[in-house]
Amino acid sequence: MKKLVIFAFGLLVFLFIGRHVLAPKMVERGFARMVTANVGVDRTADLEDGLHVYMCGAGSPLADPKRSGPCIAVLAGKKAFVFDAGTNGSQNLGPMGFPTGRVEEIFLTHLHSDHIDGLGQMLLGTWINSGRTAPTKVSGPIGTAQIVEGFNMAYQIDSTYRTAHHGTKVANPASFGATAREIDLSSGTQVVYDKDDIRITAFNVSHAPVHAAFGYRIDYKGRSIAISGDTKYDPNIAIASKGVDVLFHEALNMEMVKTMQAAAKANGAKGLEKILFDIQDYHTSPVDAAKTAKQAGVNDLVLYHIVPMLPSDALIPIFVRGASDDFDGKITVSEDGTIVRLPVDSDTIIYEHGL
Ligand SMILES: [Zn+2]
Ligand SMILES: [Zn+2]
Repeated sequence: MKKLVIFAFGLLVFLFIGRHVLAPKMVERGFARMVTANVGVDRTADLEDGLHVYMCGAGSPLADPKRSGPCIAVLAGKKAFVFDAGTNGSQNLGPMGFPTGRVEEIFLTHLHSDHIDGLGQMLLGTWINSGRTAPTKVSGPIGTAQIVEGFNMAYQIDSTYRTAHHGTKVANPASFGATAREIDLSSGTQVVYDKDDIRITAFNVSHAPVHAAFGYRIDYKGRSIAISGDTKYDPNIAIASKGVDVLFHEALNMEMVKTMQAAAKANGAKGLEKILFDIQDYHTSPVDAAKTAKQAGVNDLVLYHIVPMLPSDALIPIFVRGASDDFDGKITVSEDGTIVRLPVDSDTIIYEHGL
Protein backbone atom coordinates (compact mmCIF):
# COMPACT_ATOMS: atom_id res chain seq x y z
CA MET A 1 0.00 0.00 0.00
CA LYS A 2 2.81 2.37 0.92
CA LYS A 3 4.55 1.58 -2.39
CA LEU A 4 1.35 2.33 -4.29
CA VAL A 5 1.04 5.75 -2.59
CA ILE A 6 4.66 6.56 -3.43
CA PHE A 7 4.10 5.46 -7.06
CA ALA A 8 0.92 7.54 -7.35
CA PHE A 9 2.70 10.57 -5.85
CA GLY A 10 5.65 10.05 -8.22
CA LEU A 11 3.30 9.87 -11.19
CA LEU A 12 1.59 13.10 -10.13
CA VAL A 13 4.95 14.88 -9.79
CA PHE A 14 5.98 13.55 -13.22
CA LEU A 15 2.73 14.72 -14.83
CA PHE A 16 3.01 18.09 -13.09
CA ILE A 17 6.56 18.65 -14.34
CA GLY A 18 5.61 17.44 -17.81
CA ARG A 19 2.66 19.76 -18.08
CA HIS A 20 3.95 22.84 -16.31
CA VAL A 21 7.71 22.74 -16.98
CA LEU A 22 8.57 20.60 -20.04
CA ALA A 23 5.56 21.36 -22.27
CA PRO A 24 5.88 25.17 -21.94
CA LYS A 25 9.63 24.84 -22.67
CA MET A 26 8.88 22.93 -25.89
CA VAL A 27 6.24 25.46 -26.91
CA GLU A 28 8.68 28.28 -26.18
CA ARG A 29 11.39 26.63 -28.29
CA GLY A 30 8.87 26.11 -31.11
CA PHE A 31 7.94 29.80 -30.92
CA ALA A 32 11.60 30.84 -31.15
CA ARG A 33 12.12 28.56 -34.17
CA MET A 34 9.02 29.93 -35.87
CA VAL A 35 9.90 33.59 -35.41
CA THR A 36 13.52 33.03 -36.48
CA ALA A 37 12.20 31.56 -39.74
CA ASN A 38 9.81 34.44 -40.38
CA VAL A 39 10.45 37.73 -38.57
CA GLY A 40 12.39 40.15 -40.74
CA VAL A 41 12.76 37.56 -43.52
CA ASP A 42 11.99 38.63 -47.10
CA ARG A 43 9.73 35.76 -48.13
CA THR A 44 9.53 37.06 -51.70
CA ALA A 45 13.29 36.61 -52.28
CA ASP A 46 13.00 33.07 -53.67
CA LEU A 47 9.71 33.49 -55.53
CA GLU A 48 9.59 32.68 -59.22
CA ASP A 49 9.21 35.69 -61.51
CA GLY A 50 5.50 36.16 -62.12
CA LEU A 51 2.23 37.64 -60.95
CA HIS A 52 1.44 36.69 -57.36
CA VAL A 53 -1.97 37.60 -55.97
CA TYR A 54 -2.60 37.71 -52.21
CA MET A 55 -6.21 37.76 -50.98
CA CYS A 56 -5.85 39.97 -47.92
CA GLY A 57 -9.59 40.47 -47.55
CA ALA A 58 -12.17 38.25 -49.23
CA GLY A 59 -15.21 39.62 -47.44
CA SER A 60 -17.64 42.50 -47.31
CA PRO A 61 -19.14 44.69 -44.57
CA LEU A 62 -20.87 41.56 -43.17
CA ALA A 63 -18.80 39.93 -40.43
CA ASP A 64 -17.31 36.64 -41.63
CA PRO A 65 -14.69 34.83 -39.51
CA LYS A 66 -12.83 33.73 -42.67
CA ARG A 67 -13.17 36.91 -44.70
CA SER A 68 -12.02 40.44 -43.83
CA GLY A 69 -12.90 43.66 -45.68
CA PRO A 70 -11.99 43.75 -49.39
CA CYS A 71 -8.26 43.82 -50.12
CA ILE A 72 -6.20 42.23 -52.91
CA ALA A 73 -2.43 42.62 -53.00
CA VAL A 74 -0.39 41.93 -56.13
CA LEU A 75 3.28 41.26 -56.62
CA ALA A 76 4.36 41.73 -60.23
CA GLY A 77 7.96 40.60 -60.34
CA LYS A 78 9.51 42.56 -57.48
CA LYS A 79 6.92 45.36 -57.47
CA ALA A 80 4.08 45.40 -54.97
CA PHE A 81 0.61 46.92 -55.30
CA VAL A 82 -2.56 46.88 -53.21
CA PHE A 83 -6.11 47.09 -54.55
CA ASP A 84 -8.54 48.32 -51.86
CA ALA A 85 -7.75 48.53 -48.17
CA GLY A 86 -10.60 46.99 -46.18
CA THR A 87 -10.46 46.24 -42.46
CA ASN A 88 -7.65 43.86 -41.44
CA GLY A 89 -6.09 43.79 -44.91
CA SER A 90 -2.66 44.93 -43.77
CA GLN A 91 -2.72 42.63 -40.72
CA ASN A 92 -3.32 39.66 -43.03
CA LEU A 93 -0.51 40.61 -45.43
CA GLY A 94 2.31 40.18 -42.89
CA PRO A 95 1.75 36.48 -42.16
CA MET A 96 1.15 35.86 -45.89
CA GLY A 97 4.69 37.06 -46.63
CA PHE A 98 3.67 40.08 -48.69
CA PRO A 99 6.17 42.98 -48.64
CA THR A 100 3.81 45.77 -47.59
CA GLY A 101 6.73 48.16 -47.02
CA ARG A 102 7.56 47.93 -50.74
CA VAL A 103 4.08 48.85 -51.97
CA GLU A 104 4.50 51.11 -54.96
CA GLU A 105 0.90 52.27 -55.17
CA ILE A 106 -2.48 51.59 -53.58
CA PHE A 107 -5.40 51.57 -56.02
CA LEU A 108 -8.98 52.05 -54.81
CA THR A 109 -11.85 50.56 -56.80
CA HIS A 110 -14.38 52.98 -55.29
CA LEU A 111 -14.93 54.96 -52.12
CA HIS A 112 -17.43 52.81 -50.20
CA SER A 113 -16.33 52.61 -46.57
CA ASP A 114 -15.58 48.87 -46.60
CA HIS A 115 -12.91 49.45 -49.27
CA ILE A 116 -11.08 52.22 -47.42
CA ASP A 117 -11.61 51.56 -43.71
CA GLY A 118 -8.27 49.72 -43.38
CA LEU A 119 -6.34 52.46 -45.19
CA GLY A 120 -4.92 54.00 -42.01
CA GLN A 121 -3.40 50.68 -40.94
CA MET A 122 -2.24 49.92 -44.49
CA LEU A 123 -0.43 53.27 -44.71
CA LEU A 124 1.36 52.55 -41.41
CA GLY A 125 2.53 49.31 -43.02
CA THR A 126 3.83 51.08 -46.11
CA TRP A 127 5.52 53.82 -44.02
CA ILE A 128 7.20 52.39 -40.92
CA ASN A 129 10.61 50.83 -41.56
CA SER A 130 10.01 50.96 -45.32
CA GLY A 131 12.95 53.16 -46.27
CA ARG A 132 10.75 55.17 -48.61
CA THR A 133 11.53 58.85 -48.99
CA ALA A 134 8.11 60.07 -50.15
CA PRO A 135 4.53 59.31 -49.02
CA THR A 136 2.72 56.30 -50.49
CA LYS A 137 0.66 56.93 -53.62
CA VAL A 138 -3.06 56.24 -53.33
CA SER A 139 -5.00 56.32 -56.60
CA GLY A 140 -8.72 56.06 -57.18
CA PRO A 141 -11.85 57.78 -58.42
CA ILE A 142 -12.58 61.49 -57.95
CA GLY A 143 -12.91 61.98 -54.18
CA THR A 144 -9.76 60.02 -53.36
CA ALA A 145 -7.92 63.26 -52.48
CA GLN A 146 -10.49 64.09 -49.80
CA ILE A 147 -10.17 60.62 -48.28
CA VAL A 148 -6.36 60.71 -48.29
CA GLU A 149 -6.38 64.15 -46.70
CA GLY A 150 -8.67 62.84 -43.97
CA PHE A 151 -6.48 59.82 -43.19
CA ASN A 152 -3.34 61.95 -43.19
CA MET A 153 -4.96 64.30 -40.70
CA ALA A 154 -6.31 61.51 -38.49
CA TYR A 155 -2.94 59.75 -38.23
CA GLN A 156 -0.70 62.83 -38.03
CA ILE A 157 -0.57 62.91 -34.21
CA ASP A 158 0.27 59.20 -34.06
CA SER A 159 3.08 59.75 -36.60
CA THR A 160 4.83 62.19 -34.26
CA TYR A 161 4.89 59.54 -31.51
CA ARG A 162 6.34 56.98 -33.93
CA THR A 163 9.09 59.33 -35.06
CA ALA A 164 9.89 60.35 -31.46
CA HIS A 165 10.07 56.71 -30.39
CA HIS A 166 11.79 54.99 -33.36
CA GLY A 167 13.74 57.85 -34.94
CA THR A 168 13.61 59.33 -38.41
CA LYS A 169 15.27 56.31 -40.10
CA VAL A 170 12.40 54.02 -39.14
CA ALA A 171 9.61 56.61 -39.10
CA ASN A 172 10.67 59.27 -41.58
CA PRO A 173 8.30 62.28 -41.38
CA ALA A 174 9.01 63.01 -45.06
CA SER A 175 7.36 59.75 -46.14
CA PHE A 176 4.47 59.66 -43.66
CA GLY A 177 0.95 59.18 -45.03
CA ALA A 178 -0.15 59.33 -48.62
CA THR A 179 -0.46 61.49 -51.68
CA ALA A 180 -3.56 61.14 -53.81
CA ARG A 181 -4.00 60.71 -57.53
CA GLU A 182 -7.53 61.04 -58.81
CA ILE A 183 -8.35 59.08 -61.96
CA ASP A 184 -11.02 60.52 -64.24
CA LEU A 185 -12.38 57.65 -66.30
CA SER A 186 -15.04 59.58 -68.17
CA SER A 187 -13.25 58.52 -71.36
CA GLY A 188 -13.69 54.80 -70.56
CA THR A 189 -10.66 52.63 -69.84
CA GLN A 190 -7.29 54.13 -69.02
CA VAL A 191 -3.79 52.77 -68.49
CA VAL A 192 -2.90 54.04 -65.01
CA TYR A 193 0.51 52.39 -64.58
CA ASP A 194 2.95 51.35 -67.31
CA LYS A 195 6.49 50.62 -66.19
CA ASP A 196 8.94 47.69 -65.91
CA ASP A 197 6.74 45.28 -67.92
CA ILE A 198 3.76 46.03 -65.65
CA ARG A 199 0.64 47.51 -67.13
CA ILE A 200 -2.37 48.38 -64.95
CA THR A 201 -5.58 49.42 -66.69
CA ALA A 202 -8.59 50.91 -64.90
CA PHE A 203 -12.08 50.39 -66.35
CA ASN A 204 -15.59 51.47 -65.37
CA VAL A 205 -18.00 49.07 -63.67
CA SER A 206 -21.65 49.48 -62.57
CA HIS A 207 -22.20 50.12 -58.87
CA ALA A 208 -24.77 52.95 -58.91
CA PRO A 209 -25.44 55.07 -56.94
CA VAL A 210 -21.66 54.88 -56.45
CA HIS A 211 -19.88 56.94 -59.14
CA ALA A 212 -17.26 56.26 -60.16
CA ALA A 213 -16.51 52.59 -59.54
CA PHE A 214 -13.53 50.89 -61.19
CA GLY A 215 -12.21 47.47 -61.96
CA TYR A 216 -8.51 46.93 -62.73
CA ARG A 217 -6.63 44.71 -65.13
CA ILE A 218 -2.98 43.85 -64.43
CA ASP A 219 -0.69 42.51 -67.17
CA TYR A 220 2.86 41.33 -66.52
CA LYS A 221 5.13 39.50 -68.97
CA GLY A 222 2.31 37.53 -70.60
CA ARG A 223 0.40 36.72 -67.40
CA SER A 224 -2.69 38.68 -66.39
CA ILE A 225 -5.53 39.07 -63.95
CA ALA A 226 -8.54 41.36 -63.60
CA ILE A 227 -10.26 42.60 -60.45
CA SER A 228 -13.93 43.51 -60.80
CA GLY A 229 -14.33 45.80 -57.80
CA ASP A 230 -17.95 46.13 -56.66
CA THR A 231 -20.41 45.88 -59.54
CA LYS A 232 -23.65 44.43 -60.74
CA TYR A 233 -23.41 42.19 -63.80
CA ASP A 234 -21.75 44.40 -66.44
CA PRO A 235 -20.72 43.21 -69.94
CA ASN A 236 -17.94 45.83 -69.85
CA ILE A 237 -16.03 43.64 -67.40
CA ALA A 238 -15.79 40.76 -69.89
CA ILE A 239 -14.48 43.19 -72.52
CA ALA A 240 -11.91 44.75 -70.19
CA SER A 241 -10.74 41.40 -68.81
CA LYS A 242 -10.71 39.55 -72.15
CA GLY A 243 -8.33 36.61 -72.05
CA VAL A 244 -6.83 37.15 -68.58
CA ASP A 245 -5.59 34.07 -66.73
CA VAL A 246 -7.68 34.68 -63.62
CA LEU A 247 -10.69 36.91 -63.06
CA PHE A 248 -11.22 38.03 -59.46
CA HIS A 249 -14.91 38.86 -59.30
CA GLU A 250 -17.11 40.02 -56.45
CA ALA A 251 -20.11 37.82 -55.63
CA LEU A 252 -23.38 38.03 -53.76
CA ASN A 253 -25.77 35.08 -53.63
CA MET A 254 -29.22 36.61 -54.15
CA GLU A 255 -31.18 33.62 -52.78
CA MET A 256 -29.17 33.54 -49.56
CA VAL A 257 -29.55 37.30 -49.09
CA LYS A 258 -33.29 36.96 -49.77
CA THR A 259 -33.42 34.35 -46.98
CA MET A 260 -31.73 36.88 -44.67
CA GLN A 261 -34.13 39.59 -45.83
CA ALA A 262 -37.13 37.36 -45.03
CA ALA A 263 -35.64 36.63 -41.59
CA ALA A 264 -35.21 40.37 -40.92
CA LYS A 265 -38.83 40.92 -41.93
CA ALA A 266 -40.08 38.07 -39.75
CA ASN A 267 -38.13 39.53 -36.82
CA GLY A 268 -39.51 43.04 -37.37
CA ALA A 269 -36.11 44.56 -38.27
CA LYS A 270 -37.44 46.96 -40.93
CA GLY A 271 -34.21 48.93 -41.54
CA LEU A 272 -32.14 45.78 -41.94
CA GLU A 273 -34.77 44.29 -44.25
CA LYS A 274 -34.50 47.39 -46.48
CA ILE A 275 -30.67 47.24 -46.56
CA LEU A 276 -30.72 43.53 -47.45
CA PHE A 277 -33.16 44.31 -50.25
CA ASP A 278 -31.16 47.30 -51.55
CA ILE A 279 -27.78 45.53 -51.76
CA GLN A 280 -29.12 42.99 -54.24
CA ASP A 281 -29.28 45.52 -57.08
CA TYR A 282 -25.61 46.55 -57.22
CA HIS A 283 -23.74 43.28 -56.81
CA THR A 284 -23.25 40.20 -59.01
CA SER A 285 -24.45 36.64 -58.38
CA PRO A 286 -21.88 33.81 -58.64
CA VAL A 287 -23.81 32.58 -61.72
CA ASP A 288 -23.45 35.97 -63.45
CA ALA A 289 -19.77 36.24 -62.40
CA ALA A 290 -19.24 32.86 -64.12
CA LYS A 291 -21.11 34.21 -67.17
CA THR A 292 -18.67 37.14 -67.30
CA ALA A 293 -15.73 34.73 -66.89
CA LYS A 294 -17.00 32.67 -69.83
CA GLN A 295 -17.55 35.75 -72.01
CA ALA A 296 -14.05 36.96 -71.17
CA GLY A 297 -12.56 33.55 -71.98
CA VAL A 298 -10.62 33.40 -68.72
CA ASN A 299 -9.14 30.21 -67.32
CA ASP A 300 -10.06 30.55 -63.66
CA LEU A 301 -12.58 32.52 -61.64
CA VAL A 302 -11.86 33.52 -58.05
CA LEU A 303 -14.84 34.94 -56.17
CA TYR A 304 -14.26 37.52 -53.44
CA HIS A 305 -16.26 40.26 -51.62
CA ILE A 306 -18.42 37.31 -50.57
CA VAL A 307 -21.98 38.14 -49.45
CA PRO A 308 -23.44 36.77 -47.28
CA MET A 309 -20.95 35.45 -44.72
CA LEU A 310 -19.96 31.79 -45.14
CA PRO A 311 -18.79 30.73 -41.67
CA SER A 312 -18.88 27.05 -42.70
CA ASP A 313 -17.41 25.56 -45.90
CA ALA A 314 -20.58 23.46 -46.08
CA LEU A 315 -22.29 26.61 -47.40
CA ILE A 316 -19.93 26.98 -50.38
CA PRO A 317 -21.77 24.55 -52.74
CA ILE A 318 -24.98 26.46 -51.99
CA PHE A 319 -23.23 29.78 -52.60
CA VAL A 320 -21.93 28.78 -56.07
CA ARG A 321 -24.94 26.67 -57.09
CA GLY A 322 -25.39 26.85 -60.88
CA ALA A 323 -22.14 28.80 -61.52
CA SER A 324 -20.41 25.83 -63.17
CA ASP A 325 -23.34 25.06 -65.49
CA ASP A 326 -21.99 27.23 -68.29
CA PHE A 327 -18.38 27.91 -67.24
CA ASP A 328 -15.85 25.09 -67.55
CA GLY A 329 -12.98 26.76 -65.68
CA LYS A 330 -12.05 26.38 -62.05
CA ILE A 331 -14.14 28.42 -59.59
CA THR A 332 -12.72 29.26 -56.17
CA VAL A 333 -14.61 30.93 -53.35
CA SER A 334 -11.66 32.72 -51.80
CA GLU A 335 -10.99 33.46 -48.16
CA ASP A 336 -8.36 35.52 -46.36
CA GLY A 337 -5.02 33.87 -47.11
CA THR A 338 -5.81 32.56 -50.61
CA ILE A 339 -2.71 33.07 -52.79
CA VAL A 340 -2.72 32.64 -56.57
CA ARG A 341 0.64 32.43 -58.36
CA LEU A 342 1.12 32.89 -62.12
CA PRO A 343 4.76 32.22 -63.06
CA VAL A 344 5.98 33.83 -66.31
CA ASP A 345 6.72 31.63 -69.38
CA SER A 346 4.12 29.16 -68.16
CA ASP A 347 0.38 28.48 -68.21
CA THR A 348 0.26 27.19 -64.66
CA ILE A 349 -1.95 28.70 -61.99
CA ILE A 350 -0.86 27.70 -58.49
CA TYR A 351 -3.15 28.00 -55.47
CA GLU A 352 -1.79 28.24 -51.94
CA HIS A 353 -3.05 29.21 -48.52
CA GLY A 354 -0.88 31.69 -46.73
CA LEU A 355 -2.54 32.10 -43.33
ZN1 LIG B 1 -17.88 46.62 -51.02
ZN1 LIG C 1 -19.28 49.02 -52.87
